[in-house]
Amino acid sequence: MKKSFCRVLLSFMFFLLIPLLSGNASTDSKSSGISPLEALEKLKKGNQRFVSEKRLYPNQDLKTRKNTSDKGQFPFASVLGCADSRAPVEHIFDAGVGEIFTIRVAGNVSDTDEIGTMEYGIGHLNTPVLVVLGHTKCGAVTAVVRGDKVHGSIPELVDNIIPAVERAKKKSGSAFSNKLVDDAIRENVWQSIEDLLKRSEEARHLVSGKKLLIVGALYHIENGEVEWLGEHKEQVSFLAHVNSGDHGSHSYKSLLISNGVLLSIFLLSFIFFIGKNRLIKGMQVKGRMFTSFFVLIASLGIAMAWEINKNTGHGAHADKGDLILSVSVSLLMAITFAYIYMNSIIGSFKRVIGALKSTAATAADLKK
Ligand SMILES: [Zn+2]
Repeated sequence: MKKSFCRVLLSFMFFLLIPLLSGNASTDSKSSGISPLEALEKLKKGNQRFVSEKRLYPNQDLKTRKNTSDKGQFPFASVLGCADSRAPVEHIFDAGVGEIFTIRVAGNVSDTDEIGTMEYGIGHLNTPVLVVLGHTKCGAVTAVVRGDKVHGSIPELVDNIIPAVERAKKKSGSAFSNKLVDDAIRENVWQSIEDLLKRSEEARHLVSGKKLLIVGALYHIENGEVEWLGEHKEQVSFLAHVNSGDHGSHSYKSLLISNGVLLSIFLLSFIFFIGKNRLIKGMQVKGRMFTSFFVLIASLGIAMAWEINKNTGHGAHADKGDLILSVSVSLLMAITFAYIYMNSIIGSFKRVIGALKSTAATAADLKK
């Protein structure tokens, strides 16, 4: 009896650990290892060096190239900037190879491909900061403000800028002016952040969890200065508004639920086993034990399927580390179940054999 009580306790402690273990796996894999504010500070210092002509040109030597090739990239920032040749991101922040995950597109717009690329930077490479970097005298924004006729595939590109220009026109009037262009450029930075937050569950999740800081910034091409604009002032509403309507697939939550369900089933069946040691004898016990064992294995399977589904469903990419850990934790659980239940099964077999032996002995005695 005492032995089985210890097993119950040990298993209980083991199960309490699972949500913690799995929760960590889904968040902290490889990264630059610095906080969002530290990363932002690093960008600010880099830009100060660039402005004051005191660049260090860090991490651009052969050693860095070889290192990043062998060990992979651990950038500390993602930057969405304009393709304009006067706004070169790594130069602006005096950064080297493997330091900034850069997305450049005319008008620094957030459309499907850009959002996918940003998700790779913030979700897979775990950069703690994402900067949406507009710049003064942006040709793409100016074209939309002027209502220029655009050709080829450009209309589909600049349509992302239209809402920003509309807002700027409401503020500054629709007559063309440098002030209107400047306002539209700033609004366009906010538009890209809004588009990202509204369309990317991963971005919302990371920002909500304080693992990611998204800031707007404006690069002044005339003097090299980056003007920091801070977070989107409606960020909280974007996070709250869209999060309530999504599929509730925050990995942490679903992990807690799945493991909670598993834990309850596990404890219930243990109560059953403790009871049977005292109350039930013979073949009936063996049958119930097997049923219980298979129910547990099945619930394990359901929990695993749940986990894998939430990792691959509706646009969220499967985190390899999360998946490996979830599978190995589940395997460990299966082994633990097997160990505990096989012991009980063997014990029950022994009792059945004992009962049969004593019946046989009694029968033999009666024959005599
Ligand atoms: Zn531009």
